[in-house]
Amino acid sequence: FVENKCKMLENTYITLPEAFFSRQSPSKVPSPQLILWNENLAEKMGLDIDFFKSKEGVEVLAGNKVLQGTTPIAQAYAGHQFGYFTMLGDGRAILLGEYLTKEEERLDIQLKGSGRTPYSRRGDGKATLGPMLREYIISEGMKGLGIPTTRSLAVLTTGETIMRETSLPGAILVRVAKSHIRVGTFQYASQFQTKEELKALADYTLERHFKEGISKEAPYMYLLQEVVRRQAELIAKWQLVGFIHGVMNTDNMTISGETIDYGPCAFMDSYNPDTVFSSIDTNGRYAYQNQPKMAAWNLARFAEALLPLLHEDQAEAVKLAEKEVNQFFTLYHSFWYEGMRRKLGLFHENQMDQSLIEALLGLMQKYNADYTNTFRQLTLNQLTSSNLTASEEFKAWLDLWQQRLKAQKESLEAARSLMEKNNPTIIPRNHRVEEALEQAVIHKDYSILEALVRALQNPYDYQNLNDDYTVVPESFTCGYKTYCGT
Ligand code: AMP
Ligand code: MG
Ligand code: MG
Repeated sequence: FVENKCKMLENTYITLPEAFFSRQSPSKVPSPQLILWNENLAEKMGLDIDFFKSKEGVEVLAGNKVLQGTTPIAQAYAGHQFGYFTMLGDGRAILLGEYLTKEEERLDIQLKGSGRTPYSRRGDGKATLGPMLREYIISEGMKGLGIPTTRSLAVLTTGETIMRETSLPGAILVRVAKSHIRVGTFQYASQFQTKEELKALADYTLERHFKEGISKEAPYMYLLQEVVRRQAELIAKWQLVGFIHGVMNTDNMTISGETIDYGPCAFMDSYNPDTVFSSIDTNGRYAYQNQPKMAAWNLARFAEALLPLLHEDQAEAVKLAEKEVNQFFTLYHSFWYEGMRRKLGLFHENQMDQSLIEALLGLMQKYNADYTNTFRQLTLNQLTSSNLTASEEFKAWLDLWQQRLKAQKESLEAARSLMEKNNPTIIPRNHRVEEALEQAVIHKDYSILEALVRALQNPYDYQNLNDDYTVVPESFTCGYKTYCGT
C-alpha cells in the first residue's frame, strides 16, 4: 500500500455477496506509536518503508487514517469452538484491504485490536500489548522455522488503557496473511446463507488460492482435496517442531494452509504427547498428540459445509467427501514420517525406520528429555549427560541408529547436513518468550524481545550456535500455562 508512491490497497473480498462482510472503519486511537516494525517483511513485500515510519504512515497502521479509495471491512464467519458451533466474525479485527506484491501475490492487511465491529458481541474490539507482542514473536518464529503462517508486520501501542483483569496498555497488531478465509467462513455460508453464497465463496477461494483447480472437471472436490493436503502438511510441520496451537477451533483453521491465531499456543519442552498449555483446554482436546485428529475433525466440518457443491445427489456427496477427508491421515502420516526421517538424517525409507523413530520418542518421553535439544544434540553428535543419555536403552538405540546411518550410501557428513536443515537449534522457548514480554510490557525495554526475534529468524544456523536459548530452567519444565490473551 502506498508503494510506488500511490498504489492503494485493493478489496476483492467486497465482490462477494454482502452477507460475507460489514463495511467498518477502524476506531480512532488517541496516540499511536510504532513499537515493532518488521523491516524484513516490509522489504519483501515491497512496501514504502519511509512512508510507514512517517507520522502519516503510523496513522494508517493505527487505523486513524483510512487510505482514500480503500474499503475496510470486518469479515463474517462462524465456527466450532471446542466442539460447539456458533456465529463469530471479526470481533476485533479489521481488514484494511489486499496488497499486491511485486510478485503479484495478494496479501491481506489486517488490523487486530482496532475496535468494535458488528461481530463484537460483548467484546470491546480491543487488544492489549502483551498478547500482540506474543503473536509477533511466535508467528515470526514459525516463519523462521519454515512453517506456513500469517505474518506480523507491526505492533503499535494506541495510548489507550484497556480494562481486563487489570488495566493494560492497548495495542494493534498489523497482520499479513494470504487470506483470512477460514473453515468457519465456509460453515457460515453453508449454515446461514443459501447455496448461491456458498458457491460464490468457493469460487472466490479457488480464484485466490487454487487457480489451477478452476478448469478441473470437479473444482470443488479439488478445493477439498487441496485444503486437506495443505493441512496435513501444516500439522505435520507443527508436530515435527513441537508446536502446540492450543485453540484449533474451525474458525482458526485457514483455507490457505497458514497457521493463524496465536493465542495460547506454545512450544513443548520435554517430550510428552499429552502436553497442553492452554488454561482453558481443561480436557486436553487440543493436546499435542491430538492435533492431527482435531485437524481431521475440522476438515470433516469443512467437507460438510461443501456438500451442496460436491454432488447433486447428497448421499453421493457424502461418500466423496468422506473419502477425501479420510485421506488426511495417510497424507499426514507420510509428511510426518518423511520429516522424522530427515530429522534423523535418513535419506531413503527402510522398513525399520518407523520403529526406530517410535523407540526414540518413547525413550524421550520415559526420560523426560527435551524434544528440541535431543534432536539438536544428535545433529551435533554432542550428547550432554541426562537421564536419557545415561540409560542403557538409549545407548542401544544410538547403536542401532548409527548402524542405520552407516549403512546408507550417503556419507555421514551428508546425513548431518540433512539433520541440520531439519532440527532447529532454537525455538521460541516459553521462558524466553515470557522474559521478553515482561521486559517489554512492564519495563518498556524491547531489546530482549528484539534479540529473541532476531535469533528466531535463523533457527537452522549451526555455524553460529547460540546456547543462550537452549537451556530450560527447572521452574519452566512443568506447569507452564498460557491464556487466550486478548
Ligand atoms: P479467538 O479465540 O481469538 O479465535 O476469537 C474468537 C472470537 O472472539 C472471534 O470472533 C473474535 O473476533 C472474538 N473476540 C476476541 N476478543 C475480542 C474482543 N476483545 N472484542 C470483540 N471480540 C473479540
Ligand atoms: Mg480466531
Ligand atoms: Mg485469537
